[in-house]
Amino acid sequence: MAKSKSALVTNTVKINDRCQLVNLRLNNETEFSYAGGKYIIVNSGIEIAPEKTAKRAYSIIKKEGDNVLLSALQLKDGVGSQFINKLVVGDEVPFSGPWGKLTLQKDHSHHQIIATDTGISAALGLVTSNEIQPYLSKSKLFWFRPETNQFLSDNFVLETLPEGLGDVTIQSIAEINDEERQGQAQEIANHIHREAGTHYYLVGDGHMVLTIKDKLISLGVTEEQISMEIFFNKPAKP
Ligand SMILES: Cc1cc2nc3c(=O)[nH]c(=O)nc-3n(C[C@H](O)[C@H](O)[C@H](O)COP(=O)(O)OP(=O)(O)OC[C@H]3O[C@@H](n4cnc5c(N)ncnc54)[C@H](O)[C@@H]3O)c2cc1C
Repeated sequence: MAKSKSALVTNTVKINDRCQLVNLRLNNETEFSYAGGKYIIVNSGIEIAPEKTAKRAYSIIKKEGDNVLLSALQLKDGVGSQFINKLVVGDEVPFSGPWGKLTLQKDHSHHQIIATDTGISAALGLVTSNEIQPYLSKSKLFWFRPETNQFLSDNFVLETLPEGLGDVTIQSIAEINDEERQGQAQEIANHIHREAGTHYYLVGDGHMVLTIKDKLISLGVTEEQISMEIFFNKPAKP
């Protein structure tokens, strides 16, 4: 079983009614094997079944020294997202991790990070990481979110980006679970510049991420060139 650790809330910043940024300070003795793109699993302590508490994954937007920044989009009746959005300075947050496979693939020279919705948190983790620094000018970030987005604001995202990032695109798409998203995912994949030596990082809505992946593969990109993390709309396990 994963070892439970704990961090202290040292700051919160309200972005809007459904989202606050939470700064956690790690105990300096806590083992924390970080790389940009990773997430932690927060244990809310809220019982959702006998002897089962709600544990949810939240990606690290950035890490500076012992401080990690994360954020959750408040979902209606969502236990985990409500827990994050109610945290106040001084709270202790039990967690495990960091975990994740969406980390920088240094065997590629170019990096294209394609995030939808809340997937921008992991995308920011990647572009603010130390590992990406030598590749920054050859890295591009795409963020697709609905017009009504209530997660991190465009301004926050733009202000968080490191200087020297190759390119950034923020574009509106249909609402989550709208049928139009399938066609939009195909279009996104068609327009992504394909270049030898590029690694693609897909993160966010499973319906879109999987469509983009399939389309990229049909256009000649290999499985090895793609890393993927699905935040929601995961396909059911066979
Ligand atoms: C690797 C990973 C990293 C993640 N990082 C973040 C993060 O940085 N910020 C963040 O807000 N969430 C993130 N999530 C999603 C998060 O773990 C929870 O699933 C989410 O907060 C909902 O939990 P809940 O207990 O509030 O609601 P639940 O009752 O568990 O979820 C309700 C339903 O909403 C779906 N859902 C989850 N996320 C969304 C969304 N963005 N939009 C619409 N529906 C959704 C769930 O799949 C579920 O069907 C991440 C998920 C994964 C797997």
